[in-house]
Amino acid sequence: MERKDVDRTKVSPMMRQYLEIKDNYENIILFFRLGDFYEMFFEDAITVSHELELTLTGKNASLDERIPMCGVPFHAGNIYIDKLIEKGYRVAVCEQTSDPKAKGIVKREVLEIVSRGINMNTDSISETDSNFIGSIISTPDNYIISYADITTGKIFVTSIINSKETLIKEILNIGLKEIIVLSNFDKWIINKLKKEFNICIYISDTIDEIEQYKTLYQNIDDIRFIECIKHLLCYLNNNSKRSLTHMQPVEVVNNSKYMHMDYNTKKNLELVYNISRNTKEYTLMWLLDKTKTAMGARCLKNYIQYPLVDKEEIEYRYNIVSKLIFEFIKREELRDCLYEVYDVERLCGKISYGNANAKDLLQLKNSIKVFPEINAILSDIGYNKHLFILNEIYELLEKSIDENAPITLKEGSLIKSGYSNELDELKKIRIGGKDFIASLENEEKERTGIKNLKVGYNKVFGYYIEIPKGSIGLVKDEYGYERKQTIATGERYITPILKEKESLILGAEEKIINMEYEIFVTIRDEVKKYIKELQKNSKIIADIDVLSTFAVISEENNYIRPQLNNENKVEIIGARHPVVEKVLDKPFIDNDIIMNNDTSILLITGPNMAGKSTYMRMMAIISIMAQIGCFVPCKSALIPIFDGIYTRIGASDDLVNGESTFMVEMSEANNAISNATKNSLILFDELGRGTATYDGMALAQSILEYIHDEIGCKTIFSTHYHELTALENDLTHLKNVHVSAEENDGDIIFLHKIKEGAVDKSYGIYVAKLANLPSKVINRAGVILNHYESSPTSNISTEKVIEKIIHEESEVEIELKNTNIMTLTPIDALNLLYKLKEKIKK
Ligand code: ATP
Repeated sequence: MERKDVDRTKVSPMMRQYLEIKDNYENIILFFRLGDFYEMFFEDAITVSHELELTLTGKNASLDERIPMCGVPFHAGNIYIDKLIEKGYRVAVCEQTSDPKAKGIVKREVLEIVSRGINMNTDSISETDSNFIGSIISTPDNYIISYADITTGKIFVTSIINSKETLIKEILNIGLKEIIVLSNFDKWIINKLKKEFNICIYISDTIDEIEQYKTLYQNIDDIRFIECIKHLLCYLNNNSKRSLTHMQPVEVVNNSKYMHMDYNTKKNLELVYNISRNTKEYTLMWLLDKTKTAMGARCLKNYIQYPLVDKEEIEYRYNIVSKLIFEFIKREELRDCLYEVYDVERLCGKISYGNANAKDLLQLKNSIKVFPEINAILSDIGYNKHLFILNEIYELLEKSIDENAPITLKEGSLIKSGYSNELDELKKIRIGGKDFIASLENEEKERTGIKNLKVGYNKVFGYYIEIPKGSIGLVKDEYGYERKQTIATGERYITPILKEKESLILGAEEKIINMEYEIFVTIRDEVKKYIKELQKNSKIIADIDVLSTFAVISEENNYIRPQLNNENKVEIIGARHPVVEKVLDKPFIDNDIIMNNDTSILLITGPNMAGKSTYMRMMAIISIMAQIGCFVPCKSALIPIFDGIYTRIGASDDLVNGESTFMVEMSEANNAISNATKNSLILFDELGRGTATYDGMALAQSILEYIHDEIGCKTIFSTHYHELTALENDLTHLKNVHVSAEENDGDIIFLHKIKEGAVDKSYGIYVAKLANLPSKVINRAGVILNHYESSPTSNISTEKVIEKIIHEESEVEIELKNTNIMTLTPIDALNLLYKLKEKIKK
């Protein structure tokens, strides 16, 4: 039976209540609390039972047909909700908001709507990742993107050019999990994001000003930014159904403050994600992440994705790193303190959202405890920021919240004795009652002479006196025992005095639980007043955590402080690729990277597997490390500050546009040469290899000439087109280098050492041999290669040579040439045709 077919006059009051609530949540799954379960009905039950593999049952709701129903235990609700939102659903959580024991139907209300972007269950969100929800508004020239992480309260706004492709890449770059758009938004983009990238998209046309949030964007003038922020905040406000007092002032992302790297570059350089292995392992983040706090880990990821371009800011980070390397005892003390700090930033979110429990407040207390010690160390090392100490909050939490408090708030045991007189009085009554009952057992044994009598308790009957079977005959009327339950081993009785004490105890118990909850909420609200200070502290803690991590990593791995220069000089001596170095089971061969004022392009040749890609990636990684304020893996480094890194590395097809490898190569090349400035770094790995040799070579050459003549930025270009090395004669700022290899008895030895000049051999066939290709293939390739090298046509492409060889050996051609058609009968001609066709087939 479908929901729309239900005759609402016939159903039970509870079902009518369900239907009325569900009317407001049409495309949202409604988790309807019924006692110890969340129940789903109708289409929600069908969807949820299917998605979560739950049993679909039916409920008799006084209708002709049973209605579809499924349910999950309420205490495991979060687990099921997380699974549903991961699959792209939204869940409205409807709770019982009046006392279930009271007469009449229990009141129910939706208290929360959970979706991928509005999820405060931080247990299910990675500590190191932000959980962004964003609004995108399209204007004639730009897309405006405003995005927030409600777990931390951070909000950003930025604008990009009005290009669908750039928008999709930026969305992936930011990592938006859920997006809100206006109903007139481009349908193609919506479909693309939903289908190919599994991003949740919702339509919302409400853009209202909400008084509470006005201050968050009061410093922003751009009206388009404000519209976009309001659009997002409205959606958050309406859907979260909670107070979002922890949202921080909106930060305008000023791209000119950071090194420019687009989504593909970050992906190609494997900064935070390893494409080939599909993991976070073996990335720069993996290498550097020795942070002690979750805030530090998120901050490090942000540093890596947004390297700085301001020399002073970078140098400041170096100074602190230097200090922390030198003052290693202080550094270790600092890191020991940081280890004690919990995720204060997300705790603030939970406190403001109203779902922080006692465990969360205890974590906050323990974090605050080490603030004074951290501050002392920050002063000692000359750090320019300090934490708010917040003693008053520490003391409040210390005297109020019980260290052994449970995670639920409706079970009591939250508040320490001594904090509230009223609560302590109730607890005394409860203890008094319990003591009375404990002594009652002995008194009753005395009074009745029944030695094996026991006083017990269960939830159904409350307190009772239990008498084993063999002694039942000893029970006399004068004892005033009233039989309540027969069990296999005896009988259970109650007495008026027992019931009187029971109601005293249980009454006190209920009052205690309610009072503890109320006190807890008051304390939580008190803490809420300090959220701004706690958020500022979180930022300082995150930064110093990252800088102390840089110090540790730099010390452990022998990294050195780079020297930044404004003369566009690169002089990195003894450079190592920090990630490859960690992974290799043999020593990494260090190399120099020298590009003085006269050199803008290094054209790098060398055998396959020699280390060309590693060399160029190393240049990018060292530059990024330098610009995030970390020391770098080499003996000495003189590096300019790059305003952007543009890459064409690897041979992946484009996820965004479904383009071919060659098309991607060309778009990335285009992106690089149209956006790079004289202060950028371009890395092109075998550009042009995705098409026919001549075309590829011609394009590679003209792109090199363009960079050389028009841009003049530092570029490393690897190639197997040896012909390109001749460019050194014409392009004054281009220099040939090669990675050396040696031949030994038909085998190849990779030296991985960069040397000046070009190399004249590819050793491709040797590498193929290393890859264990069948010897027949290797030998044949050798023959073709010899032919090519000795042929007068050796300056034509390999494809043409192979074509030529195949032609020379074609039996069909030879036979046709030797056939005199004039002497053939029609039947012979037909037979010959048949024979030739068979040969071709073979
Ligand atoms: P191709 O032309 O086939 O793309 P390539 O020249 O770009 O090859 P890389 O992929 O950079 O070669 O390197 C191949 C392997 O050689 C690396 O995975 C690494 O294990 C090793 N290697 C590269 N450089 C060094 C080095 N400097 N020291 C030690 N090992 C290295």
